Amino acid sequence: MKTALKRDHPARRTQRLTPGVTRCHIRNMSIVKRVCVYCGSNQGHDPRFIAAARRFGEILAANRTGLVYGGGSTGLMGTVARAVRDHGGEITGIIPEFLKAQERIFGDADEIVVTADMHERKRLMFERADAFVALPGGVGTLEEVVEQLTWAQLGRHKKPILIANIAGFWDPLIVMFEHLLNLGFLASGPLGYLVTDNVDDILPTLVAAAAQVSEAEKQGEPEWVQRL
Ligand code: AMP
Repeated sequence: MKTALKRDHPARRTQRLTPGVTRCHIRNMSIVKRVCVYCGSNQGHDPRFIAAARRFGEILAANRTGLVYGGGSTGLMGTVARAVRDHGGEITGIIPEFLKAQERIFGDADEIVVTADMHERKRLMFERADAFVALPGGVGTLEEVVEQLTWAQLGRHKKPILIANIAGFWDPLIVMFEHLLNLGFLASGPLGYLVTDNVDDILPTLVAAAAQVSEAEKQGEPEWVQRL
């Protein structure tokens, strides 16, 4: 199995973002009120990851879109949260009791929810957000975004899920998903994720996808997520 994507692979650019979307995204912004960001509790070695986390926090705040995240101040998680705070945005942190010290709870959040365990944390993060983004991260990030994909695949929700493929970070995962599909383990078709390698495209892409869901729901097309 090859683990690098070709330069012209769709995951190397923004998928399904039409030119009109950026122009009209302010009108649609209310559809995505809060975005759940999954990302590392470490910062990683590539400064582009930190820059992307910082920029995305700034974009969320500028567009009055709330951040829902793990509630810590370490790693890229802390970077996103500080950027949202520095630009006057809204932050909801959701952290299990046992991680409060280890992940250093973020003191400037608008709301911190302390949960009994990881399962409650993930459920609340899901419930509080209208869309999900995976920035670079470790196994926690991986687990969280894959769980959302499995829930979507099982038809449990239609909230957009976007893989932010910053500097090709998620290439091996995308290759793995294609491997699963090619070898017949995704019976219901390709997984319903969006992907972009450009941090500025993340929010408009989510908003456009959320608008499509609303439109599809109005037209009684519940299988929207399967056709992404
Ligand atoms: P990581 O990407 O491993 O740095 O972790 C990012 C976040 O995911 C941290 O807040 C971790 O506490 C959290 N995390 C780690 N393992 C899990 C898991 N199994 N389920 C949910 N979240 C996790």
